[in-house]
Amino acid sequence: MATQKGNIGITTENIFPVIKKFLYSDHEIFLREVVANAVDASQKLSTLAAKGEFKGETGDLTIHISIDKEAGTLTISDHGIGMTREEIDRYINQIAFSGATDFLEKYKEDAATIIGHFGLGFYSTFMVSKQVDIVTRSWQDGAAAVKWSCDGTPSFTIEDAEKAERGTDIVLHIDDDCKEFLEKERIETLLRKYCRFLPIPIAFGHKTEWKDGTQQETDELNVINDTEPLWVKTPSALKDEDYQKFYRDLYPMHDEPLFWIHLNVDYPFNLTGVLYFPKIKNNIDIHRNKIQLYCNQVFVTDSVENIVPDFLTLLHGVIDSPDIPLNVSRSYLQSDRNVKKISTYITKKVADRLKSIFQSDRPQFESKWNDLKLFIHYGILSEPEFYDKAKTFALLYDVDGKCYTYDEYQSAIKENQTDKDGCLVCLYASDRTAQHSYIEAVKAKGYNVLLLDGQLDTPLVSTLEQKWGEPGKVRFVRVDSDTPELLIKKDDTTSEADEATKNNLSAVFTAILPTIEKADFHVNAAAMGADAAPIVITQSEYMRRMKEMASLQQGMSFYGEMPDMYSLVINTDHRLVANLTATFHETLDEKLAPIDAELRGLNARRTAIEDAQKDVKPENLTESEKEDKKQVMADIEKQEAERTAVIAAFAKDQKVAAQLVDLALLQNGLLRGESLTAFVKRSIDLI
Ligand code: ADP
Repeated sequence: MATQKGNIGITTENIFPVIKKFLYSDHEIFLREVVANAVDASQKLSTLAAKGEFKGETGDLTIHISIDKEAGTLTISDHGIGMTREEIDRYINQIAFSGATDFLEKYKEDAATIIGHFGLGFYSTFMVSKQVDIVTRSWQDGAAAVKWSCDGTPSFTIEDAEKAERGTDIVLHIDDDCKEFLEKERIETLLRKYCRFLPIPIAFGHKTEWKDGTQQETDELNVINDTEPLWVKTPSALKDEDYQKFYRDLYPMHDEPLFWIHLNVDYPFNLTGVLYFPKIKNNIDIHRNKIQLYCNQVFVTDSVENIVPDFLTLLHGVIDSPDIPLNVSRSYLQSDRNVKKISTYITKKVADRLKSIFQSDRPQFESKWNDLKLFIHYGILSEPEFYDKAKTFALLYDVDGKCYTYDEYQSAIKENQTDKDGCLVCLYASDRTAQHSYIEAVKAKGYNVLLLDGQLDTPLVSTLEQKWGEPGKVRFVRVDSDTPELLIKKDDTTSEADEATKNNLSAVFTAILPTIEKADFHVNAAAMGADAAPIVITQSEYMRRMKEMASLQQGMSFYGEMPDMYSLVINTDHRLVANLTATFHETLDEKLAPIDAELRGLNARRTAIEDAQKDVKPENLTESEKEDKKQVMADIEKQEAERTAVIAAFAKDQKVAAQLVDLALLQNGLLRGESLTAFVKRSIDLI
């Protein structure tokens, strides 16, 4: 037949510049596209043979890839169905959809994933070629070989050709600025990346061996792919070693996986794959995006964002599904119905797998908990559906290493740790060493202390508080957030020292307290028992959690910048504090008596004035009434300042009290700089 010339049937003239421009960064995918076409053509031939339509010999279907550096060509040859002249016209010349340019314009960012699915796959070769030839002979009886040639403009030629064998050679005349694609190493790397698990053997030259001092080619083909990867095999035919080996092949640098799941569904969507639970010690980001996404064994991407829930991106492995739409923008993926189903399915499978391991082999599950917990906690925090399953197998450990499920823990502490308002109080420590004295104090009261030292434990406790009971009926409280008596309030009648003593002690210690940068203290006193520490420093659970959350989240920096707030609680029952109280009375009672008498008088006056004025609107008060009140307030202030000064003068000499405060600060890592130096000096003096 005569040579034919023509224009490629696209609506706009400039499709090639568009392809080149938009897909610039993803040049390399042309190879995946042509090899995938070659695989399709080969599989179609097998299908025709199986149906009996093709009666000849299918023969060896291996696809060959070769580089001719001198000619500047890269050739992909298959023994598939080939094409007739009419088929070339239909499949190649008339690009399957109109408005290609508009489409690409709209989805610029995702162009790379789109092209494979809109019949543009073959044309991606023009990203790297100045000319592309197709030399092909159809499987059909008596079909003549044809050669199609196009130089990257929308015009092409088609002519008769010589080709003995059935199949197609795609010859890419590589562009001058894309010479890298004529490098053996580059092509081999790309083939391994995209074609590693394609179902038809792909040979790239021959294997080489070291002989007589040089690398020499052997007769053995260099087949780069595994045509039957693990995930397409029947799970029942596979052993643990097979899964472990596959994992090592995929991630040679990683530790052994903990467990794996073989995914296999064909309804209502098609999906196969193997997911591995890697060892995750501490860093959330480090092993992310290790799931490879395939479409019929063709590698698509290793970013499964928006396809599986975020926490599952911590898993490793392979997902292969032709039902994940790659022709939509990534941001639309989440709302796609198939993707939603797939995501729900995988979440459920993962949870079921963990549950079954927990039920069948709890010791094994417990031994792997440390590597699993970040993953499970992340799932609990981010996916409500996952929590519903995980609550049966998620574990809690107490500071003594005893382990509980959520239900077990609640029953274990229910009796002893329910406060007077019926609220279940779960006590926890986040650092066994730093909070040692608090843990011991709480344990001495017979309470259990959980160890919550994971990265996600702050948000986790908030979630558990919500999930475990009605609002306000479950509380997690860190051991250092209050004194042991107040952590779990059993009744209202604790033996409190009298108000005056408590106020005086607070005043003494407030005067002694060194100033510490970025820390504010509120001093008060309580009767905590003779055996408890003389001073306890606590930090409000609420403020601490807010600050911890702030460090995890954006937009909460307000809390992060606030100083840490502590309560310094003086134990009025402690021997040393009782001594101090005695000294206080001996030294100051006389001095304070007139001030206190004065204050009592002033306060009585103030109450009288306030009572008299309480029903009068502020704007209706006379000047002299206002003046009276102002005067009383000023007098009170003056007396109080005097009182504080007297106490401060007394406090200055109380070395034992200063020592107690510093020891408490020291225990909490709060004593620094000048205050620390002063403490050391005072200690030496005391010795
Ligand atoms: P897609 O593969 O998405 O259909 P392509 O542009 O890659 O789009 O290819 C268009 C068509 O050209 C294919 O559907 C197929 O019919 C034909 N084709 C491409 N490559 C080959 C090949 N190596 N052998 C036989 N037919 C091919």
